[in-house]
Amino acid sequence: MSATILNGKAFAGRLLERVTEHVAGLKTEGIVPGLAVVLVGEDPPSQIYVRNKGIATKEAGMNSYEFRMPADTPEADLLAKVKELNKDPAVNGILVQLPLPGHIDDKKVINTIAPEKDVDGFHILNVGRLATGQRAMVSCTPLGCLLLLRDHLGDLSGKDAVVIGRSNIVGKPMAQLLLGESCTVTIAHSRTKDLAEVVRRADIVVAAVGRPQMVPGDWIKPGATVIDVGINRTETGLVGDVDFAAAKDVAGAITPVPGGVGPMTIACLIRNTYISACRREGVSVAS
Ligand code: NDP
Repeated sequence: MSATILNGKAFAGRLLERVTEHVAGLKTEGIVPGLAVVLVGEDPPSQIYVRNKGIATKEAGMNSYEFRMPADTPEADLLAKVKELNKDPAVNGILVQLPLPGHIDDKKVINTIAPEKDVDGFHILNVGRLATGQRAMVSCTPLGCLLLLRDHLGDLSGKDAVVIGRSNIVGKPMAQLLLGESCTVTIAHSRTKDLAEVVRRADIVVAAVGRPQMVPGDWIKPGATVIDVGINRTETGLVGDVDFAAAKDVAGAITPVPGGVGPMTIACLIRNTYISACRREGVSVAS
């Protein structure tokens, strides 16, 4: 059996097409959503991510504002920039690209972003709302994973799901989303005993670790749906956290790397910015 390949790139393309249409509709009412991205320092991957986010924002018909600050920017200056963007009515979404230089407290910066403009969904208020089942701005990567899962499986209720990784930006919000879908959720991490057995029980596996191909094919339950969040640069190119070649012969469905979760993350960021603009203007959000 060979797994269905969950083509995140194509799905994200369709999602972006719909958002672009909705944004064009908003424009007829004089509303143009705007996304501000702040990059501190010159981390090469961050520069690529910021550039790609800017391109996607403009392609969706939104305004893109980019702010590049030197690596030695004092924390107070970054906080002042965030506060300025909070007040700017042209800005509906604010994203401060992580990681930040070591002298800056990233939690303080994130929690300074106005929660309604926190399109990354990292603000403590959005995290708390998600955890308590209230309307939240949901973090883009887990949201992208959930959209792929729902599209492929439909109702997720009662499924056994394992999330490998417990970071604040992927693992924990992913687990909350799956719990919200009534999955039975296990969160695994570096101290988990017998990870192989934990993964073998799962109908849904979300791998968000950052270790190239650490999940071998024989950990996957036959027919399971595998979402590979990992992006690992190796000598042979980009690979995920799952051994794709082996897992695809066992799984029911699997995301490739690249072309799986990555494009969904950007599409969800654009959609979150559109949602933020709608809420600010009191316009209903189109699906
Ligand atoms: P973090 O480094 O913040 O978290 C990694 C998690 O993996 C930790 O919870 C850690 O456990 C766990 N872990 C480490 N080693 C093991 C192990 N041997 N067994 C089980 N668990 C382990 O990473 P992120 O969550 O930020 O990112 C994870 C991956 O996803 C990375 O490859 C990243 O590049 C990618 N990513 C992809 C995105 C996309 O758009 N596709 C977006 C964001 C991230 P512990 O807590 O115990 O240390």
